[in-house]
Amino acid sequence: MLYDVLVIGGGPAGLSAAINLRARGKSVLVVSNPMEENPLWKAEQVENYPGLPSVSGAELLTALWRHAEKDGVEFMIGKALNTALAADTWYVSVGSDVREAKALVLAAGIVRGKKFPGETELLGRGVSYCATCDGMLYRGKSVAVVGYTETARKEADFLKGIGCEVQYFERPRTCAITGSDRVEAVTCDGVTAPVDGVFILRPTMAPTDLLPGLGIEKGYVSADGKMSTGLPGVFAAGDCVGGPLQVAKAVGEGLVAGQNAAAYVDGLSRKK
Ligand SMILES: Cc1cc2nc3c(=O)[nH]c(=O)nc-3n(C[C@H](O)[C@H](O)[C@H](O)COP(=O)(O)OP(=O)(O)OC[C@H]3O[C@@H](n4cnc5c(N)ncnc54)[C@H](O)[C@@H]3O)c2cc1C
Repeated sequence: MLYDVLVIGGGPAGLSAAINLRARGKSVLVVSNPMEENPLWKAEQVENYPGLPSVSGAELLTALWRHAEKDGVEFMIGKALNTALAADTWYVSVGSDVREAKALVLAAGIVRGKKFPGETELLGRGVSYCATCDGMLYRGKSVAVVGYTETARKEADFLKGIGCEVQYFERPRTCAITGSDRVEAVTCDGVTAPVDGVFILRPTMAPTDLLPGLGIEKGYVSADGKMSTGLPGVFAAGDCVGGPLQVAKAVGEGLVAGQNAAAYVDGLSRKK
């Protein structure tokens, strides 16, 4: 199915965009990691969201997801890995699946942690971000999984299930990947494992890995007053575009991004 808009990230910004897109009659798919893995889930109390003085992060996120579901927003739990544009359609890889939409709203929050030494150089030559996509290449081989979430644990189990020998590194502080042409070893927190592959399963992707060509300013995605990034049909909202890193700001920007993504989709229809 070709959606009008695909939203990457099911936090306050993405859900606000999705709700406002449905209010304009657009079909919307939110692609997101599980709600319980959103950092806000752990907040005992959200201090300053107007009108809800003692709400917890989990309660607020649950209410936002329920509201979006009630309005007809569709959800796909998974991590968006990369995107490509062809003839006014955006193709988004989610694990080993691909979803299509006319416009995108990037609402992926902030990326925590830097890339490891060797990660970029050996990407596609033993370094992977997706166990279900690339796992079969390592059947009967040794791999390391560097994981940060419950979902990463499940991906490690998947690798074991298909016959990989898996060494799991849980939230390491430091890692470095070595190999001359392909991955030969990984060292995390001082422990070295000779491996054929390394699956780095962070909850987020660097915005420029997801959307090459995206403008970045002071570490955040650049967007104008319409929350347009300058890439055709790509809008951004929330923490990923900068501070204050707060729910109220994320929700407001989500609304603006959603409304302008809807207008962009209407413009495409008029063009045809
Ligand atoms: C402990 C804590 C307490 C806080 N307390 C407050 C408070 O009291 N008041 C306040 O206003 N703010 C508070 N904040 C900040 C607030 O949580 C953020 O400003 C807000 O959640 C930003 O919303 P967002 O939608 O931009 O991003 P996020 O809420 O971070 O949502 C982004 C979502 O996208 C997902 N995602 C990222 N990349 C991908 C991908 N490639 N594919 C699929 N999914 C992806 C992430 O997993 C996440 O679920 C707190 C934050 C924390 C961590």
